[in-house]
Amino acid sequence: MAKKFVIALLIACCLPLAACSGGETRPNEKKLVVNDSAGNALAVFVTGKESVGKYSSYVGRAVSESAEIIVSAGLCKKEDAAAELLSGGYVIETALVPQVAEAITQAASQLEPGAAFGAAATDLQGRLIAACDSGGDTAFMRTAPYSSFKPLSVYAQAIERGVAVWSTSYPDSPVKQITRDNGRVTDWPANADGKYSRENVALPKALMRSLNTVAVRCMRDVGVLNSLDFIRDSFGRDLASERARAETYGEEEVLGNCALGYLYEGVSPAEMAGYYQIFANGGTYYAPKAVMRVTKNGEEIYKYSPRGKRVIKESTAFIMNRLLREPVMPGGTGSAARLDEIEVCGKTGSGDDGYWFVGCTPDHTCAVWHDTVPGRSLSPAIFASAVSAFPVSGFGYPECADVKPMLYCTDTGLLSYGRCPHTDVGYFENSHLPEYCDKH
Ligand SMILES: [Zn+2]
Repeated sequence: MAKKFVIALLIACCLPLAACSGGETRPNEKKLVVNDSAGNALAVFVTGKESVGKYSSYVGRAVSESAEIIVSAGLCKKEDAAAELLSGGYVIETALVPQVAEAITQAASQLEPGAAFGAAATDLQGRLIAACDSGGDTAFMRTAPYSSFKPLSVYAQAIERGVAVWSTSYPDSPVKQITRDNGRVTDWPANADGKYSRENVALPKALMRSLNTVAVRCMRDVGVLNSLDFIRDSFGRDLASERARAETYGEEEVLGNCALGYLYEGVSPAEMAGYYQIFANGGTYYAPKAVMRVTKNGEEIYKYSPRGKRVIKESTAFIMNRLLREPVMPGGTGSAARLDEIEVCGKTGSGDDGYWFVGCTPDHTCAVWHDTVPGRSLSPAIFASAVSAFPVSGFGYPECADVKPMLYCTDTGLLSYGRCPHTDVGYFENSHLPEYCDKH
């Protein structure tokens, strides 16, 4: 649905609730009501008025979805959807949970005034329970996700395809030399801190420190086109620019785009919140939806029913869930997202166009993006502050009988009988266990 239609509808017709308190609109004024999940009005549209209400980008999304719904239901043609929605009697019930939207808004207040900000949260069955931003629709605006994309484009697929296991390590050293536009030859990729340990680093530490070197090497093993196929087939998102370049010039051409999240067209906070559901619910993707029910004159036209698609195995989802706890550990790039009372997992992303934290709790996902005005990332802290005020069900992440914690040798990455000098505990799929270490 054309975005400009929604914006035009909003600007033309949205009344702040205060302006129609008591519901005293004249009977001949055509009205469209958008409610939150508790049945309270988020917006009331009355023709001829000009104003925009609270959570306007969320309301815009709900109206846009509703337009698609009534067209699909055969009630009108696409070009008549706006007029039909304003023809009177329509009520759109949304998934917006006021407690969640307020929590995100409150958490974002730690940003300086003027910083651009966008965040979105879902439950684990596709309900878009909040989308908040500093204006400009940034909760739905696409920008490069940077390292917050690594779990999707690299690591989940490496685990799923058996390319890597928990203890697989890669050298933290330059992958190649590249010639910059100014003619200088430099090591590539640079890590965030500009340094290389030149040691082999296994997946947990690579995620904790967001090492670009390891992500790029693992991406090569997965395959760029395989990765692009996964994103398309799982989430319905074809990264067409990356695909075209990979097909024309070879996969190396877009290795960094895919491994490090420097995507030409980017992703939105709402999309990222949707994608990360798979790491919290056992591997099923639900497209995020704002609209839960549409009625016209009290008659139900549409009701949301979650239709998920399994995109990774339960075992992969479980291992990724455990791996994504590493970035929020002390010393991790997202340690400020850690909470004592809630099991948080997630990943940071940082670059010229802003700072991300995309994370999960056992009940929700939440993606937070802000621009570089603060000069440092506050996204993990905003995430933590927000989700700590979300409603909690008390359930944990789904367990997986196909995965068990096992002792492994950190020198070889192989399972350990306990004689190895350096060991740690990792999560391995029962049917895909490494050999036992015979070096110690
Ligand atoms: Zn060993």
